[in-house]
Amino acid sequence: MSETLFERIISRQIPADIVFENEELLAFRDINPQAPVHVLVIPKRVVARIGEAQSGDQELLGSLLLAAAQIARQLGLAESGYRLVINNGPDGGETVPHLHCHILGGRSLGWPPG
Ligand code: 5GP
Repeated sequence: MSETLFERIISRQIPADIVFENEELLAFRDINPQAPVHVLVIPKRVVARIGEAQSGDQELLGSLLLAAAQIARQLGLAESGYRLVINNGPDGGETVPHLHCHILGGRSLGWPPG
């Protein structure tokens, strides 16, 4: 399978504004922000989308969500609040087939999503 855009960000072939990195995860600012703070948290290991995650991914998924909350805190969103979003498939609005959790904050977000 050919490399996804996000694999190219992980390997630094494509630049990104990285806000967090550890052995298993990378977080960087979205190129087309939908809120004053818009960060993507991704696993370095490829999982195409949440709908294809396996039981063996349980620990990684837990780490992803905990890191997202920690990054949101570091970016000053803890008190004002924020939203975590995982888009899955065409109707979900997924455009990059590499699992990612959006952190959106810095403004009041409408509900339900359009
Ligand atoms: P999805 O629509 O798959 O849930 O989210 C993919 C996200 O990746 C979009 O919000 C889009 O703006 C972002 N994105 C696409 N290409 C790039 C890029 O080259 N760099 C960064 N930082 N974000 C990107």
